[in-house]
Amino acid sequence: MTAGKRSFQAEVSKLLHIVANSLYSEREVFLRELISNAADACDKLRYLALTQAELVEGDPEYKVRISVDTGAKTLTIADNGIGMNEAELDENLGTIASSGTGAFVEALSGDEKKDVGLIGQFGVGFYSAFMVAEKVEVLTRKAGDKAAWTWTSDGLGEYTVVSAKKAGRGTIITMHLKDDAAEFLEESRLRTIVKTYSDHIGIPIVFASGADEQALNEASALWTRQKSEITDEQYTEFYRHVSHSFDDPWLTTHWRAEGRFEYNALLFLPSNRPFDLFHPDRKHRVKLYVKRIFITDDCEGLVPEYLRFLKGVIDCEDLPLNVSRELLQKNPMLTAISSAVTKRILTELSRKAEKDADAYAAFWENFGAVLKEGLYGAPNEHKETLLDLVRVKSTNREGLVSLKQYVETMKEGQEHIYYITGENEEAVRNSPHLEGFMAKGIEVLLLSDPIDDFWIPSLFEGYEDHQFQSVTRGSAALDKVEDAKTEGGPKKGKKRDTKTKTKDITPLIASIKLTLGDKVKDVKESARLTDSACCLVADDGDLDINLERILRQHQQVAEAPTRVLEINPSHPLIKVLAKRIKGGKTGQEIEDAAFLLLDQARIIDGEPVTDPKAFAQRMSKVMESGLVG
Ligand code: ADP
Repeated sequence: MTAGKRSFQAEVSKLLHIVANSLYSEREVFLRELISNAADACDKLRYLALTQAELVEGDPEYKVRISVDTGAKTLTIADNGIGMNEAELDENLGTIASSGTGAFVEALSGDEKKDVGLIGQFGVGFYSAFMVAEKVEVLTRKAGDKAAWTWTSDGLGEYTVVSAKKAGRGTIITMHLKDDAAEFLEESRLRTIVKTYSDHIGIPIVFASGADEQALNEASALWTRQKSEITDEQYTEFYRHVSHSFDDPWLTTHWRAEGRFEYNALLFLPSNRPFDLFHPDRKHRVKLYVKRIFITDDCEGLVPEYLRFLKGVIDCEDLPLNVSRELLQKNPMLTAISSAVTKRILTELSRKAEKDADAYAAFWENFGAVLKEGLYGAPNEHKETLLDLVRVKSTNREGLVSLKQYVETMKEGQEHIYYITGENEEAVRNSPHLEGFMAKGIEVLLLSDPIDDFWIPSLFEGYEDHQFQSVTRGSAALDKVEDAKTEGGPKKGKKRDTKTKTKDITPLIASIKLTLGDKVKDVKESARLTDSACCLVADDGDLDINLERILRQHQQVAEAPTRVLEINPSHPLIKVLAKRIKGGKTGQEIEDAAFLLLDQARIIDGEPVTDPKAFAQRMSKVMESGLVG
């Protein structure tokens, strides 16, 4: 790699432009971001020094030093942490490497007001220095290396990296402040900012003038302090530090476990949904410490995947310090701690759900789809608690319903928990498959997260002895359920007109079946429709319609299985058709109707018609005869 001018990754340039021009409110947070990075760099080195003590020889006390030069209008933040080599400088300060970057950049709209909000959620880290500086220099030397490097940029598309000299390891960041940022040269202002945002940092932060050093923070790890001595603001700032995010914690939980295993845990659930929550590389953001020493923020198995939105710190007393991270991850003690932590978090969630349904609904909106992953796949000791945490939209209520509430208000004679899955809420709400259920006032759960098609069918045992039944599959079995009384009855939908006798439409069914042949699995009289003429349902043993669609999108199944076409005997169109057949009419008219009914049903399901040209021709023919005739 040659030293010299280099271009920022396009996303970084875009970001820097907004950072430098629009992020005016609370721009003092740049200091928090830089101190946070400096402290992380010290943490990383402390871990390495466990096995390579020579890395910190002669300079074993970690420290972050802040100093100013009022004449040159520069503010400097120096640390004796791990430092960076040339390649790391390029990688870390020339790109945005976080897994959510793609989603984040896509979300940027070009409307600066909106984008500022998004940046707030994403976090800009180091780049926030350009809120207050017109030029930034980073002089850094990696622990164990002799070479040092200076990275310089004015934040306008390019930066340079040149070879440099530096005594000792670590990083010195020098900011040439903008004219309107002179306030950040004042010691008292800096002291207040550090107190506000960075007091929780476990490494000393000092203000240095010459040889004199004034401590700016308490320098003890926040999670080791007594709960009663920690303010909400300190928790919030600590949350922002560990999670590199800008929002407030939605839930904070801090406890000390004693007994078989000793550990301190300070964990947070965020208010905002992280950009990369569904990115395949997304991992939880819980940092593992052992006796106050940072070990890793990538400890597989420390918290389950379905809690990957958790952030914070777990600090264990009993884990060995002198083994590799990989071995540590396999330690059975860690599994026990993980289980206890999971239980604690789920209990806190249950408590919150009970105490404040609205706040819980907001959490559910953000993270429900992830939590539901815990119900699918491997056996899960926490399944029961998780099931009670599930909230779902439904046909009978404005807000969300729990499974417990659903079961408590089931209709007389109703055995199953009915649900429908689909691509989005609108599609499931408008599905004709709901009509008969709504007419009877039977509540149907409306589900539209892809995971719903997996966790529900995996619950063979159902919920409280009630099996889950999709309304798009099998026979509707609505007869056993009592009709809705006027009071508290259905809000929408008509009662089924049962006057049309089965025998009246049997010939029509036979004729449609003959016409459609193997395009359908069967044609049946529908018990679930009241308003619509027809719909497609999955036969009992077949894949559910939405699941099949999801699998098809991921090329997991090649072809759609044929479906059962249900027709509504009380629909005027079906009645007329039945009459015609009875009157001896067959031929083209019935054939067209059969195909149009099938295509209609496919359209309602969000599927393309099988043969668009034939569909259009038939449609025109029928419309024409309606208009002309
Ligand atoms: P984040 O801290 O969220 O990863 P930043 O943009 O703030 O994002 O920093 C990018 C990376 O640059 C960090 O992850 C770290 O590897 C490196 N870095 C930043 N500041 C320092 C520092 N003072 N010492 C060593 N490495 C640093």
